[in-house]
Amino acid sequence: MSLNDLALDVPHAAVAAAAAELRAALGDRALLRGDAGYDAARTPWNLAVAQHPFAVVIPESAQDVVDVVRAATLSGLRLAPQSTGHGAGALSDTDLAHTVLVSLRSLRGVTVDPETRTARVLGGSLWNDVLEAAAPHGLTALHGSAGDVSVVGYSLSGGLSFYARAHGLAVNAVRAVEVVTADGSLVRASAAEHPDLFWALRGGSGSFGVVVAIEIDLLAVADVVAGMLLWDASRASEVAHAWAQWTQSAPETATTTLRILHIPQMPELPPFLSGRSVVVIDGAIEETDAAASALLGPLRALQPEVDTFARIPAPALVGVHMDPPEPSPSVTWHAVLGELPARAVDAFVEAAQTPGIFVQELRHLGGAVNRRPEGGGAIASLDGEYLVHSIAMVPAPEAAAPATAAVRAGVAAMVAWRVDALALTFVDAPGADRSVAFGAAWARLRQLKLDYDPANLFAAARPV
Ligand SMILES: Cc1cc2nc3c(=O)[nH]c(=O)nc-3n(C[C@H](O)[C@H](O)[C@H](O)COP(=O)(O)OP(=O)(O)OC[C@H]3O[C@@H](n4cnc5c(N)ncnc54)[C@H](O)[C@@H]3O)c2cc1C
Repeated sequence: MSLNDLALDVPHAAVAAAAAELRAALGDRALLRGDAGYDAARTPWNLAVAQHPFAVVIPESAQDVVDVVRAATLSGLRLAPQSTGHGAGALSDTDLAHTVLVSLRSLRGVTVDPETRTARVLGGSLWNDVLEAAAPHGLTALHGSAGDVSVVGYSLSGGLSFYARAHGLAVNAVRAVEVVTADGSLVRASAAEHPDLFWALRGGSGSFGVVVAIEIDLLAVADVVAGMLLWDASRASEVAHAWAQWTQSAPETATTTLRILHIPQMPELPPFLSGRSVVVIDGAIEETDAAASALLGPLRALQPEVDTFARIPAPALVGVHMDPPEPSPSVTWHAVLGELPARAVDAFVEAAQTPGIFVQELRHLGGAVNRRPEGGGAIASLDGEYLVHSIAMVPAPEAAAPATAAVRAGVAAMVAWRVDALALTFVDAPGADRSVAFGAAWARLRQLKLDYDPANLFAAARPV
């Protein structure tokens, strides 16, 4: 390999110097094009996205990150922090030819303090890491539906969990962030230390630096009533209308979703799922068994074919939504809805038939999701009562365009009920107007980006 192949439009000497700086910083944990391991390291969780960075670095400590920031700055390269690549779709319009992907996959570890009910979580840790460490203390966290999403990537972009209607967005559970900023310093940001940066990181996320650790509040929940109810998709309209009605009076202790899934035939799936179209209600209910059972009564009266709702250990909640256990290729689109009248339910069910759509989903918002706590950051709440989310698989690159068209059509069908809001974690593609997710906070956030990262060193999935 010639060094000129690394970045064709950069002079040979500059490319060689940049490569040398990165190697000096991280040795063989700096992977350049042509290196064994480069292709594996650049591949994100979302396999529909092809990332071609200048290099991938795999830091194992905060000092490694400091060294990488200095090396990149000396070389005129940008940096894109990434923990898993679940959000890689949102980064896919960023040209990475002069960007070093900072893969946090090796910076994992969780320490739980049961007295303060908090956890200190290293920058690339997954929710499964936290759940495993917290469970022995009867604690859990405001994780999302998938256990292999990173704590930092999810929490600092909002984070919508199955506990959300009772406890709000996960970003409000963040107590402190340890971050390497554009000037190469390792800074601890909290309400008391660098409060401006702390405010900006809670929403601004990877636009402000590489997060090497985060401190979060944990929930005193050892087990929870959770599960799913499943019917054949021929019942979709009836079930969707019943769920929409049910959510009108559901307490904030219940956070549920309704989905219509078109599942391909897959031998690894149980027969009740493989090759079928189904309608599913799932979620969590933080109530006593008796109260949860009473609450589920009207939904169970629709006689689901499968009913797994039961009290389960808190860590098992990540299995309820049946997210893909392995990296997979997909595109998604979403919108936030202010209401879900009968006509909207009809539109949702009809849109689920759009060819190419794999999952058409409604998540119930409201409750604490809508409430901005005192001292919140750039994102602290989400307006709206429901979130509509369409997902399509991209088995081959040529499927990307029709899949994108399908998910946009799935959401466009609901536009009449849309409100001016976006859930930043659900922004998974280029082209969304991210300022909508921040509302009045956008102007201050942009100013702080200029203050903390004037040269725009950091490339984030949802840039400021
Ligand atoms: C199967 C699946 C299920 C999901 N379920 C939910 C859900 O229930 N609720 C919900 O709210 N969202 C959900 N999401 C969305 C997910 O929370 C976001 O895409 C999130 O940003 C992913 O974070 P990540 O770090 O794992 O991904 P990455 O692609 O690695 O990171 C996304 C962005 O986060 C920032 N980032 C990540 N790590 C760092 C770091 N250490 N330092 C600085 N910046 C960093 C960067 O800007 C990066 O571009 C889901 C996504 C998928 C694919």
